Amino acid sequence: MTDKSVDVVVVGAGFSGLYQLYRLREMGLTTRVFEAGSGVGGTWYWNRYPGARCDVESLNYSFSFSPELEQEWTWSEKYSPQPEILGYAEHVAERFDLKKDITFDTRVESAVYDGDTHTWTVTTDGGEVVSTRFFVMATGCLSVSKAPEIPGAETFPGPIYHTGHWPHEGVDFTGKRIAVIGTGSSGIQSIPIMAAQAAEATIFQRTPNFSMPAGNRPLTEEEVRTRKENYREYREAAKWSGFGVPVPAPTRSALEVPEEERNQAYQAGWDQGNLVAILTSYVDTLAVKEANDTAAEFVRAKIRDVVKDPELAEALSPRSFPFGTKRPCLDTGYYETFNDDHVHLVDIRKTPLVEITTKGVRTSEQEYEVDAIVFATGFDAMTGALTRVDIRGRNGVSLREKWGEGPRSYLGLTVAGFPNMFTITGPSSPSVLTNMMVAIEQHVDWVADCIGWLRDNDVAELEATDRAEDEWVRHVEEVGNTTLYPTADSWYMGSNVPGKPRVFMAYIGGMGAYREKCDEIAAKGYAGFALTPEPESVPA
Ligand code: NAP
Repeated sequence: MTDKSVDVVVVGAGFSGLYQLYRLREMGLTTRVFEAGSGVGGTWYWNRYPGARCDVESLNYSFSFSPELEQEWTWSEKYSPQPEILGYAEHVAERFDLKKDITFDTRVESAVYDGDTHTWTVTTDGGEVVSTRFFVMATGCLSVSKAPEIPGAETFPGPIYHTGHWPHEGVDFTGKRIAVIGTGSSGIQSIPIMAAQAAEATIFQRTPNFSMPAGNRPLTEEEVRTRKENYREYREAAKWSGFGVPVPAPTRSALEVPEEERNQAYQAGWDQGNLVAILTSYVDTLAVKEANDTAAEFVRAKIRDVVKDPELAEALSPRSFPFGTKRPCLDTGYYETFNDDHVHLVDIRKTPLVEITTKGVRTSEQEYEVDAIVFATGFDAMTGALTRVDIRGRNGVSLREKWGEGPRSYLGLTVAGFPNMFTITGPSSPSVLTNMMVAIEQHVDWVADCIGWLRDNDVAELEATDRAEDEWVRHVEEVGNTTLYPTADSWYMGSNVPGKPRVFMAYIGGMGAYREKCDEIAAKGYAGFALTPEPESVPA
Protein backbone atom coordinates (compact mmCIF):
# COMPACT_ATOMS: atom_id res chain seq x y z
CA MET A 1 0.00 0.00 0.00
CA THR A 2 1.68 3.21 -1.09
CA ASP A 3 1.12 6.67 0.32
CA LYS A 4 1.72 8.45 -2.95
CA SER A 5 2.69 8.03 -6.53
CA VAL A 6 5.11 10.23 -8.46
CA ASP A 7 6.93 10.10 -11.77
CA VAL A 8 10.42 10.08 -10.28
CA VAL A 9 12.02 9.50 -6.90
CA VAL A 10 15.52 10.92 -6.50
CA VAL A 11 17.70 9.92 -3.56
CA GLY A 12 20.11 12.63 -2.40
CA ALA A 13 20.05 16.44 -2.51
CA GLY A 14 23.68 17.08 -3.29
CA PHE A 15 24.58 18.76 -6.56
CA SER A 16 23.33 15.70 -8.51
CA GLY A 17 19.97 15.53 -6.81
CA LEU A 18 19.42 19.29 -7.00
CA TYR A 19 20.09 19.49 -10.70
CA GLN A 20 18.11 16.30 -11.41
CA LEU A 21 15.12 17.77 -9.61
CA TYR A 22 15.47 21.01 -11.55
CA ARG A 23 15.54 19.20 -14.90
CA LEU A 24 12.64 16.88 -14.13
CA ARG A 25 10.49 19.65 -12.83
CA GLU A 26 11.17 21.71 -15.96
CA MET A 27 9.86 18.72 -17.90
CA GLY A 28 6.64 18.75 -15.89
CA LEU A 29 7.35 15.51 -14.04
CA THR A 30 6.30 15.03 -10.45
CA THR A 31 9.43 14.38 -8.42
CA ARG A 32 10.23 13.61 -4.81
CA VAL A 33 13.75 13.95 -3.46
CA PHE A 34 14.73 12.26 -0.21
CA GLU A 35 17.80 13.50 1.64
CA ALA A 36 19.33 12.06 4.80
CA GLY A 37 20.82 15.40 5.88
CA SER A 38 18.91 18.38 7.19
CA GLY A 39 20.00 20.53 4.28
CA VAL A 40 21.15 20.41 0.67
CA GLY A 41 24.75 20.08 -0.50
CA GLY A 42 25.59 16.40 -0.05
CA THR A 43 29.31 16.03 0.43
CA TRP A 44 29.57 19.75 1.21
CA TYR A 45 26.90 19.40 3.85
CA TRP A 46 28.69 16.59 5.70
CA ASN A 47 32.39 17.33 5.20
CA ARG A 48 32.83 20.41 7.40
CA TYR A 49 36.25 19.57 8.76
CA PRO A 50 38.75 22.44 9.10
CA GLY A 51 40.37 23.32 5.79
CA ALA A 52 37.80 21.50 3.61
CA ARG A 53 37.95 22.84 0.07
CA CYS A 54 37.47 21.46 -3.39
CA ASP A 55 40.59 20.56 -5.35
CA VAL A 56 38.96 21.81 -8.53
CA GLU A 57 39.24 25.57 -8.90
CA SER A 58 36.07 27.41 -7.87
CA LEU A 59 35.66 29.00 -11.28
CA ASN A 60 35.44 25.48 -12.73
CA TYR A 61 33.38 23.92 -9.97
CA SER A 62 29.88 25.20 -10.60
CA PHE A 63 26.79 24.49 -12.68
CA SER A 64 26.74 25.52 -16.30
CA PHE A 65 23.03 25.02 -16.98
CA SER A 66 21.93 28.54 -16.07
CA PRO A 67 23.78 31.54 -17.54
CA GLU A 68 21.93 33.77 -15.05
CA LEU A 69 23.19 31.68 -12.14
CA GLU A 70 26.71 31.85 -13.55
CA GLN A 71 26.58 35.62 -13.70
CA GLU A 72 25.03 36.28 -10.33
CA TRP A 73 27.28 34.01 -8.27
CA THR A 74 30.80 35.22 -7.46
CA TRP A 75 33.46 32.97 -5.98
CA SER A 76 35.86 34.56 -3.53
CA GLU A 77 38.90 32.29 -3.63
CA LYS A 78 40.82 30.21 -6.12
CA TYR A 79 39.80 27.15 -4.09
CA SER A 80 36.77 28.30 -2.17
CA PRO A 81 36.20 26.88 1.28
CA GLN A 82 33.48 24.37 2.16
CA PRO A 83 31.09 26.97 3.69
CA GLU A 84 31.12 28.93 0.44
CA ILE A 85 30.49 25.83 -1.70
CA LEU A 86 27.68 24.82 0.64
CA GLY A 87 26.35 28.38 0.37
CA TYR A 88 26.33 27.95 -3.41
CA ALA A 89 24.32 24.72 -3.13
CA GLU A 90 21.85 26.50 -0.85
CA HIS A 91 21.65 29.42 -3.26
CA VAL A 92 20.84 27.04 -6.14
CA ALA A 93 18.13 25.37 -4.05
CA GLU A 94 16.58 28.71 -3.12
CA ARG A 95 16.94 30.35 -6.49
CA PHE A 96 15.13 27.52 -8.28
CA ASP A 97 12.73 26.91 -5.40
CA LEU A 98 13.84 23.29 -5.13
CA LYS A 99 13.36 22.65 -1.44
CA LYS A 100 9.60 22.26 -1.68
CA ASP A 101 10.10 18.88 -3.34
CA ILE A 102 12.85 17.68 -0.99
CA THR A 103 12.13 15.71 2.16
CA PHE A 104 15.05 16.20 4.55
CA ASP A 105 16.22 14.08 7.48
CA THR A 106 14.92 11.06 5.64
CA ARG A 107 16.83 8.04 4.45
CA VAL A 108 15.57 5.76 1.72
CA GLU A 109 15.81 2.24 3.09
CA SER A 110 14.57 0.14 0.22
CA ALA A 111 13.39 0.27 -3.36
CA VAL A 112 11.64 -2.68 -4.94
CA TYR A 113 10.75 -3.03 -8.62
CA ASP A 114 7.52 -4.52 -9.89
CA GLY A 115 7.92 -5.77 -13.45
CA ASP A 116 4.17 -6.04 -14.01
CA THR A 117 3.39 -2.42 -13.29
CA HIS A 118 6.84 -1.06 -14.24
CA THR A 119 7.05 0.81 -10.97
CA TRP A 120 9.40 1.09 -8.04
CA THR A 121 8.15 1.10 -4.46
CA VAL A 122 10.40 3.23 -2.33
CA THR A 123 10.29 3.05 1.47
CA THR A 124 11.93 5.55 3.82
CA ASP A 125 13.13 5.27 7.40
CA GLY A 126 10.17 7.45 8.36
CA GLY A 127 7.85 4.74 7.07
CA GLU A 128 6.74 6.65 4.00
CA VAL A 129 6.06 4.50 0.95
CA VAL A 130 6.13 6.07 -2.49
CA SER A 131 5.43 4.48 -5.82
CA THR A 132 7.36 5.79 -8.82
CA ARG A 133 8.01 4.99 -12.45
CA PHE A 134 11.66 6.08 -12.32
CA PHE A 135 14.18 5.76 -9.51
CA VAL A 136 17.35 7.87 -9.51
CA MET A 137 20.18 7.26 -7.05
CA ALA A 138 22.00 10.58 -6.72
CA THR A 139 23.80 9.47 -3.59
CA GLY A 140 27.35 10.54 -4.39
CA CYS A 141 30.59 8.62 -4.78
CA LEU A 142 32.09 9.43 -1.39
CA SER A 143 29.24 9.61 1.06
CA VAL A 144 29.48 6.53 3.27
CA SER A 145 32.31 7.17 5.69
CA LYS A 146 34.39 4.38 7.16
CA ALA A 147 36.18 4.16 10.49
CA PRO A 148 39.50 2.38 10.98
CA GLU A 149 39.06 -1.34 11.54
CA ILE A 150 40.37 -1.40 15.10
CA PRO A 151 38.49 -2.15 18.30
CA GLY A 152 37.98 -0.02 21.37
CA ALA A 153 36.47 3.25 20.10
CA GLU A 154 33.63 2.92 22.61
CA THR A 155 36.13 2.82 25.52
CA PHE A 156 37.71 6.19 24.72
CA PRO A 157 36.20 8.83 27.01
CA GLY A 158 37.03 11.84 24.82
CA PRO A 159 35.48 12.91 21.53
CA ILE A 160 36.08 10.96 18.33
CA TYR A 161 35.38 12.78 15.07
CA HIS A 162 35.24 11.66 11.45
CA THR A 163 36.15 14.22 8.81
CA GLY A 164 33.23 12.94 6.71
CA HIS A 165 30.60 13.99 9.24
CA TRP A 166 32.06 16.84 11.17
CA PRO A 167 30.07 18.68 13.88
CA HIS A 168 28.26 21.69 12.44
CA GLU A 169 29.35 23.93 15.27
CA GLY A 170 33.04 23.23 14.55
CA VAL A 171 35.69 21.91 16.94
CA ASP A 172 38.37 23.84 18.78
CA PHE A 173 41.46 21.76 19.56
CA THR A 174 43.32 24.56 21.34
CA GLY A 175 45.55 23.10 24.03
CA LYS A 176 44.46 19.53 23.30
CA ARG A 177 46.52 16.47 22.50
CA ILE A 178 45.08 15.01 19.34
CA ALA A 179 45.49 11.85 17.29
CA VAL A 180 44.67 11.91 13.58
CA ILE A 181 44.35 8.61 11.73
CA GLY A 182 44.53 8.89 7.94
CA THR A 183 46.50 10.97 5.47
CA GLY A 184 44.30 11.18 2.36
CA SER A 185 42.83 14.42 1.00
CA SER A 186 40.74 15.06 4.13
CA GLY A 187 43.65 14.44 6.51
CA ILE A 188 46.08 16.44 4.43
CA GLN A 189 43.73 19.43 4.28
CA SER A 190 42.79 19.40 7.94
CA ILE A 191 46.01 18.35 9.71
CA PRO A 192 47.81 21.73 9.34
CA ILE A 193 44.87 23.59 10.89
CA MET A 194 44.15 21.10 13.66
CA ALA A 195 47.86 20.75 14.48
CA ALA A 196 48.30 24.53 14.68
CA GLN A 197 45.63 24.61 17.39
CA ALA A 198 46.69 21.52 19.28
CA ALA A 199 49.23 21.24 22.08
CA GLU A 200 50.40 17.92 20.65
CA ALA A 201 49.39 16.33 17.34
CA THR A 202 50.18 12.71 16.51
CA ILE A 203 49.46 11.68 12.94
CA PHE A 204 49.01 7.97 12.24
CA GLN A 205 49.98 7.35 8.63
CA ARG A 206 49.35 4.07 6.82
CA THR A 207 50.32 5.29 3.35
CA PRO A 208 51.99 8.61 2.57
CA ASN A 209 50.27 10.49 -0.23
CA PHE A 210 51.43 12.81 -3.00
CA SER A 211 50.42 16.37 -2.22
CA MET A 212 51.24 19.75 -3.68
CA PRO A 213 50.60 23.28 -2.46
CA ALA A 214 47.21 24.60 -3.52
CA GLY A 215 48.52 28.14 -3.78
CA ASN A 216 45.11 29.26 -2.61
CA ARG A 217 44.41 33.00 -2.71
CA PRO A 218 41.56 35.43 -3.23
CA LEU A 219 40.40 35.67 -6.82
CA THR A 220 40.93 39.01 -8.49
CA GLU A 221 38.01 40.96 -9.94
CA GLU A 222 39.68 40.63 -13.29
CA GLU A 223 39.78 36.81 -13.10
CA VAL A 224 36.13 36.64 -12.14
CA ARG A 225 35.07 39.10 -14.84
CA THR A 226 37.05 37.32 -17.54
CA ARG A 227 35.51 33.95 -16.67
CA LYS A 228 32.03 35.44 -16.52
CA GLU A 229 32.56 36.93 -19.97
CA ASN A 230 33.81 33.62 -21.36
CA TYR A 231 31.73 31.06 -19.55
CA ARG A 232 30.13 29.57 -22.67
CA GLU A 233 33.40 28.91 -24.42
CA TYR A 234 34.98 27.66 -21.22
CA ARG A 235 32.11 25.26 -20.39
CA GLU A 236 32.18 23.81 -23.86
CA ALA A 237 35.90 23.06 -23.54
CA ALA A 238 35.36 21.51 -20.09
CA LYS A 239 32.56 19.27 -21.40
CA TRP A 240 34.78 17.69 -24.03
CA SER A 241 38.00 17.55 -22.01
CA GLY A 242 39.49 14.43 -20.45
CA PHE A 243 39.17 15.42 -16.79
CA GLY A 244 36.35 17.96 -17.00
CA VAL A 245 38.86 20.79 -16.75
CA PRO A 246 40.22 22.20 -19.97
CA VAL A 247 43.99 21.79 -20.15
CA PRO A 248 46.14 21.44 -23.26
CA ALA A 249 46.35 17.79 -24.32
CA PRO A 250 49.87 16.40 -23.97
CA THR A 251 51.65 15.24 -27.09
CA ARG A 252 54.96 13.87 -25.84
CA SER A 253 56.27 11.10 -23.64
CA ALA A 254 57.92 12.13 -20.39
CA LEU A 255 60.77 9.84 -21.41
CA GLU A 256 61.60 11.67 -24.61
CA VAL A 257 62.11 15.00 -22.87
CA PRO A 258 65.38 16.05 -21.19
CA GLU A 259 65.17 16.02 -17.40
CA GLU A 260 65.58 19.76 -17.04
CA GLU A 261 62.76 20.54 -19.46
CA ARG A 262 60.56 17.93 -17.84
CA ASN A 263 61.09 19.38 -14.40
CA GLN A 264 60.26 22.83 -15.75
CA ALA A 265 56.93 21.46 -17.00
CA TYR A 266 56.21 19.88 -13.59
CA GLN A 267 57.27 23.08 -11.88
CA ALA A 268 54.80 25.06 -14.00
CA GLY A 269 51.94 22.80 -12.83
CA TRP A 270 53.27 22.96 -9.29
CA ASP A 271 53.33 26.76 -9.31
CA GLN A 272 49.75 26.87 -10.56
CA GLY A 273 48.68 24.54 -7.75
CA ASN A 274 46.90 22.54 -10.43
CA LEU A 275 46.78 18.76 -10.09
CA VAL A 276 45.40 18.13 -13.54
CA ALA A 277 48.22 20.14 -15.12
CA ILE A 278 50.82 17.82 -13.63
CA LEU A 279 48.85 14.65 -14.28
CA THR A 280 48.50 15.59 -17.93
CA SER A 281 52.00 16.97 -18.54
CA TYR A 282 52.89 13.96 -20.67
CA VAL A 283 50.95 11.32 -22.55
CA ASP A 284 52.38 8.48 -20.48
CA THR A 285 52.38 9.90 -16.95
CA LEU A 286 49.48 7.68 -15.93
CA ALA A 287 50.37 4.79 -18.21
CA VAL A 288 54.08 3.97 -18.04
CA LYS A 289 55.84 3.38 -14.76
CA GLU A 290 59.17 4.92 -15.83
CA ALA A 291 57.42 8.04 -17.09
CA ASN A 292 55.37 8.23 -13.92
CA ASP A 293 58.51 7.86 -11.80
CA THR A 294 59.77 11.19 -13.13
CA ALA A 295 56.70 13.02 -11.77
CA ALA A 296 56.76 11.01 -8.54
CA GLU A 297 60.40 11.84 -7.96
CA PHE A 298 59.73 15.52 -8.66
CA VAL A 299 57.17 15.56 -5.84
CA ARG A 300 59.40 13.56 -3.47
CA ALA A 301 62.20 16.08 -4.04
CA LYS A 302 59.77 18.84 -3.04
CA ILE A 303 58.97 16.95 0.17
CA ARG A 304 62.70 16.69 0.95
CA ASP A 305 63.07 20.44 0.32
CA VAL A 306 60.39 21.27 2.87
CA VAL A 307 60.77 18.68 5.63
CA LYS A 308 63.94 19.38 7.59
CA ASP A 309 64.49 15.93 9.09
CA PRO A 310 65.55 13.64 6.20
CA GLU A 311 64.15 10.52 7.89
CA LEU A 312 60.82 12.19 8.39
CA ALA A 313 60.87 13.44 4.79
CA GLU A 314 61.42 9.87 3.62
CA ALA A 315 58.61 8.60 5.85
CA LEU A 316 56.28 11.16 4.25
CA SER A 317 57.37 10.23 0.72
CA PRO A 318 55.07 7.91 -1.22
CA ARG A 319 56.87 4.98 -2.83
CA SER A 320 54.32 2.18 -2.85
CA PHE A 321 52.15 3.35 -5.77
CA PRO A 322 52.56 5.44 -8.92
CA PHE A 323 51.88 9.18 -8.79
CA GLY A 324 48.21 9.93 -9.50
CA THR A 325 46.93 6.36 -9.08
CA LYS A 326 45.68 7.23 -5.62
CA ARG A 327 43.96 10.58 -5.63
CA PRO A 328 46.77 13.18 -5.23
CA CYS A 329 46.08 16.04 -2.83
CA LEU A 330 46.32 19.79 -2.67
CA ASP A 331 47.39 21.24 0.65
CA THR A 332 48.16 24.41 2.50
CA GLY A 333 51.28 23.88 4.61
CA TYR A 334 50.95 20.11 5.02
CA TYR A 335 54.59 19.09 4.86
CA GLU A 336 55.68 22.24 6.74
CA THR A 337 53.49 21.12 9.66
CA PHE A 338 55.85 18.22 10.32
CA ASN A 339 58.72 20.63 11.04
CA ASP A 340 56.93 21.66 14.24
CA ASP A 341 58.20 19.93 17.38
CA HIS A 342 54.72 19.23 18.70
CA VAL A 343 53.72 17.31 15.56
CA HIS A 344 54.64 13.63 15.41
CA LEU A 345 54.32 11.09 12.62
CA VAL A 346 53.68 7.44 13.41
CA ASP A 347 54.23 5.03 10.54
CA ILE A 348 51.60 2.41 11.18
CA ARG A 349 53.00 0.12 8.51
CA LYS A 350 55.96 -0.34 10.85
CA THR A 351 54.02 -0.25 14.10
CA PRO A 352 50.41 -1.16 13.27
CA LEU A 353 47.41 0.24 15.09
CA VAL A 354 46.15 -2.24 17.66
CA GLU A 355 43.28 -0.54 19.46
CA ILE A 356 41.70 2.59 20.81
CA THR A 357 42.06 2.56 24.59
CA THR A 358 40.67 4.53 27.49
CA LYS A 359 43.65 6.84 27.13
CA GLY A 360 44.13 7.13 23.41
CA VAL A 361 45.60 5.07 20.59
CA ARG A 362 47.77 2.01 20.98
CA THR A 363 50.07 0.69 18.29
CA SER A 364 52.13 -2.50 18.40
CA GLU A 365 54.86 -0.39 20.01
CA GLN A 366 53.28 2.08 22.42
CA GLU A 367 50.18 3.81 23.71
CA TYR A 368 49.67 7.46 22.71
CA GLU A 369 47.67 9.41 25.27
CA VAL A 370 45.38 11.97 23.68
CA ASP A 371 42.33 14.12 24.45
CA ALA A 372 40.61 13.75 21.08
CA ILE A 373 40.80 11.46 18.07
CA VAL A 374 40.09 12.30 14.45
CA PHE A 375 39.38 9.61 11.89
CA ALA A 376 40.30 10.89 8.43
CA THR A 377 39.89 7.36 7.15
CA GLY A 378 37.79 7.96 4.08
CA PHE A 379 34.80 6.27 2.55
CA ASP A 380 33.28 3.09 1.20
CA ALA A 381 33.59 4.79 -2.16
CA MET A 382 31.55 4.49 -5.34
CA THR A 383 29.34 1.58 -4.35
CA GLY A 384 28.80 2.13 -0.60
CA ALA A 385 25.87 4.53 -0.92
CA LEU A 386 24.21 2.40 -3.58
CA THR A 387 24.41 -0.93 -1.78
CA ARG A 388 23.46 0.59 1.56
CA VAL A 389 19.89 0.90 0.26
CA ASP A 390 18.14 -2.46 -0.15
CA ILE A 391 17.52 -2.19 -3.87
CA ARG A 392 15.68 -5.09 -5.50
CA GLY A 393 15.26 -5.20 -9.24
CA ARG A 394 13.44 -7.58 -11.51
CA ASN A 395 12.38 -10.82 -9.78
CA GLY A 396 13.58 -9.54 -6.41
CA VAL A 397 17.28 -9.68 -7.32
CA SER A 398 19.25 -7.53 -4.91
CA LEU A 399 21.83 -4.99 -6.10
CA ARG A 400 24.09 -5.95 -3.20
CA GLU A 401 24.10 -9.56 -4.39
CA LYS A 402 24.50 -8.66 -8.04
CA TRP A 403 27.54 -6.54 -7.14
CA GLY A 404 28.99 -9.13 -4.77
CA GLU A 405 32.07 -9.49 -6.94
CA GLY A 406 32.23 -5.85 -7.92
CA PRO A 407 29.91 -3.32 -9.56
CA ARG A 408 28.53 -4.07 -13.01
CA SER A 409 26.68 -1.42 -14.96
CA TYR A 410 26.01 -0.11 -18.42
CA LEU A 411 27.74 3.29 -18.69
CA GLY A 412 27.77 3.65 -14.90
CA LEU A 413 24.23 4.94 -15.41
CA THR A 414 22.05 1.85 -15.47
CA VAL A 415 22.19 -1.75 -14.29
CA ALA A 416 20.86 -4.83 -16.10
CA GLY A 417 18.03 -6.33 -14.05
CA PHE A 418 17.14 -2.93 -12.56
CA PRO A 419 14.81 -1.31 -15.09
CA ASN A 420 14.02 2.41 -14.91
CA MET A 421 16.76 2.92 -12.32
CA PHE A 422 19.59 5.39 -12.89
CA THR A 423 22.77 6.02 -10.93
CA ILE A 424 24.24 9.52 -11.16
CA THR A 425 28.03 9.26 -11.43
CA GLY A 426 27.74 5.55 -10.75
CA PRO A 427 30.63 3.08 -10.83
CA SER A 428 32.18 2.62 -14.30
CA SER A 429 31.54 6.21 -15.30
CA PRO A 430 34.24 8.95 -15.34
CA SER A 431 32.89 10.54 -12.10
CA VAL A 432 35.69 10.77 -9.54
CA LEU A 433 38.38 10.95 -12.20
CA THR A 434 36.93 14.22 -13.42
CA ASN A 435 35.56 17.54 -12.27
CA MET A 436 32.45 16.18 -10.56
CA MET A 437 30.27 19.12 -11.62
CA VAL A 438 30.87 18.34 -15.27
CA ALA A 439 30.26 14.62 -14.70
CA ILE A 440 27.08 15.33 -12.72
CA GLU A 441 25.59 17.65 -15.32
CA GLN A 442 26.31 15.18 -18.11
CA HIS A 443 24.64 12.31 -16.25
CA VAL A 444 21.66 14.32 -15.07
CA ASP A 445 21.06 15.68 -18.57
CA TRP A 446 21.33 12.22 -20.08
CA VAL A 447 18.88 10.78 -17.56
CA ALA A 448 16.40 13.64 -17.98
CA ASP A 449 16.59 13.39 -21.77
CA CYS A 450 16.17 9.63 -21.56
CA ILE A 451 13.09 9.87 -19.36
CA GLY A 452 11.68 12.51 -21.71
CA TRP A 453 12.29 10.25 -24.71
CA LEU A 454 10.65 7.29 -23.01
CA ARG A 455 7.61 9.41 -22.26
CA ASP A 456 7.40 10.78 -25.80
CA ASN A 457 7.75 7.30 -27.27
CA ASP A 458 5.30 5.56 -24.94
CA VAL A 459 7.96 3.34 -23.46
CA ALA A 460 7.11 2.00 -20.01
CA GLU A 461 10.41 0.37 -19.22
CA LEU A 462 14.06 0.73 -20.14
CA GLU A 463 16.56 -1.87 -19.06
CA ALA A 464 20.20 -2.36 -19.93
CA THR A 465 20.74 -5.69 -21.67
CA ASP A 466 23.17 -8.17 -20.15
CA ARG A 467 25.18 -8.03 -23.32
CA ALA A 468 25.52 -4.22 -23.33
CA GLU A 469 26.47 -4.32 -19.66
CA ASP A 470 29.06 -7.07 -20.21
CA GLU A 471 30.60 -5.14 -23.07
CA TRP A 472 30.75 -1.93 -21.06
CA VAL A 473 32.29 -3.66 -18.05
CA ARG A 474 34.89 -5.23 -20.35
CA HIS A 475 35.63 -1.91 -22.02
CA VAL A 476 36.04 -0.10 -18.70
CA GLU A 477 38.43 -2.80 -17.55
CA GLU A 478 40.39 -2.79 -20.79
CA VAL A 479 40.84 0.97 -20.76
CA GLY A 480 41.75 0.85 -17.07
CA ASN A 481 44.37 -1.77 -17.80
CA THR A 482 46.13 0.54 -20.23
CA THR A 483 46.90 2.74 -17.21
CA LEU A 484 48.72 2.32 -13.92
CA TYR A 485 45.56 2.82 -11.82
CA PRO A 486 44.90 -0.89 -11.22
CA THR A 487 48.38 -1.33 -9.76
CA ALA A 488 47.62 0.80 -6.69
CA ASP A 489 45.82 -0.10 -3.49
CA SER A 490 43.37 2.78 -3.64
CA TRP A 491 39.75 3.49 -2.93
CA TYR A 492 39.31 3.57 -6.74
CA MET A 493 40.10 -0.16 -6.51
CA GLY A 494 38.05 -0.76 -3.36
CA SER A 495 41.24 -1.68 -1.48
CA ASN A 496 40.56 0.60 1.49
CA VAL A 497 37.58 -1.48 2.60
CA PRO A 498 38.51 -4.95 3.84
CA GLY A 499 36.78 -7.66 1.82
CA LYS A 500 35.65 -5.34 -0.97
CA PRO A 501 36.25 -6.87 -4.42
CA ARG A 502 39.27 -5.48 -6.22
CA VAL A 503 37.83 -3.71 -9.27
CA PHE A 504 38.81 -0.41 -10.87
CA MET A 505 35.54 1.40 -10.33
CA ALA A 506 35.91 4.45 -12.55
CA TYR A 507 36.13 4.98 -16.30
CA ILE A 508 39.40 6.53 -17.41
CA GLY A 509 38.45 6.89 -21.08
CA GLY A 510 37.95 10.64 -20.57
CA MET A 511 34.91 12.85 -20.06
CA GLY A 512 34.67 13.98 -23.68
CA ALA A 513 34.94 10.49 -25.16
CA TYR A 514 32.46 9.15 -22.63
CA ARG A 515 29.98 11.93 -23.41
CA GLU A 516 30.24 11.12 -27.10
CA LYS A 517 29.50 7.47 -26.38
CA CYS A 518 26.45 8.29 -24.23
CA ASP A 519 25.13 10.72 -26.86
CA GLU A 520 25.59 8.13 -29.58
CA ILE A 521 23.65 5.51 -27.59
CA ALA A 522 20.77 7.95 -27.06
CA ALA A 523 20.79 8.99 -30.72
CA LYS A 524 20.42 5.35 -31.75
CA GLY A 525 17.17 5.09 -29.79
CA TYR A 526 18.93 3.88 -26.63
CA ALA A 527 21.09 1.17 -28.08
CA GLY A 528 21.96 -1.57 -25.62
CA PHE A 529 18.66 -1.22 -23.78
CA ALA A 530 15.55 -3.40 -23.92
CA LEU A 531 12.48 -1.18 -24.25
CA THR A 532 8.99 -2.25 -23.23
CA PRO A 533 6.09 -0.19 -24.63
CA GLU A 534 3.29 1.16 -22.50
CA PRO A 535 0.48 -1.47 -22.52
CA GLU A 536 -2.05 0.94 -24.04
CA SER A 537 0.34 1.82 -26.86
CA VAL A 538 0.60 -1.82 -28.02
CA PRO A 539 -1.83 -2.44 -30.90
CA ALA A 540 -4.41 -5.07 -30.02
P1 NAP B 1 41.08 8.59 1.67
O1 NAP B 1 41.71 9.28 0.54
O2 NAP B 1 40.56 7.23 1.45
O3 NAP B 1 42.13 8.59 2.84
C1 NAP B 1 41.91 7.82 3.99
C2 NAP B 1 43.18 7.73 4.76
O4 NAP B 1 42.95 6.94 5.91
C3 NAP B 1 44.29 7.06 3.99
O5 NAP B 1 45.50 7.60 4.38
C4 NAP B 1 44.15 5.61 4.45
O6 NAP B 1 45.32 4.86 4.30
C5 NAP B 1 43.81 5.82 5.89
N1 NAP B 1 43.11 4.68 6.45
C6 NAP B 1 41.97 4.13 6.01
N2 NAP B 1 41.63 3.09 6.78
C7 NAP B 1 42.58 2.98 7.72
C8 NAP B 1 42.80 2.09 8.79
N3 NAP B 1 41.96 1.08 9.03
N4 NAP B 1 43.89 2.26 9.55
C9 NAP B 1 44.73 3.27 9.28
N5 NAP B 1 44.60 4.14 8.30
C10 NAP B 1 43.53 4.00 7.50
O7 NAP B 1 39.87 9.45 2.27
P2 NAP B 1 39.71 11.03 2.29
O8 NAP B 1 40.97 11.68 2.67
O9 NAP B 1 38.50 11.33 3.07
O10 NAP B 1 39.46 11.37 0.77
C11 NAP B 1 38.60 10.57 -0.02
C12 NAP B 1 38.38 11.24 -1.34
O11 NAP B 1 37.43 12.28 -1.17
C13 NAP B 1 39.59 11.92 -1.93
O12 NAP B 1 40.47 11.04 -2.55
C14 NAP B 1 38.93 12.90 -2.87
O13 NAP B 1 38.51 12.30 -4.04
C15 NAP B 1 37.73 13.33 -2.06
N6 NAP B 1 38.10 14.51 -1.29
C16 NAP B 1 38.36 15.62 -2.00
C17 NAP B 1 38.77 16.72 -1.35
C18 NAP B 1 39.09 17.91 -2.16
O14 NAP B 1 38.68 18.04 -3.29
N7 NAP B 1 39.85 18.80 -1.63
C19 NAP B 1 38.93 16.74 0.02
C20 NAP B 1 38.65 15.59 0.72
C21 NAP B 1 38.24 14.46 0.06
P3 NAP B 1 45.59 4.05 2.96
O15 NAP B 1 45.99 5.07 1.95
O16 NAP B 1 46.64 3.09 3.33
O17 NAP B 1 44.30 3.37 2.60
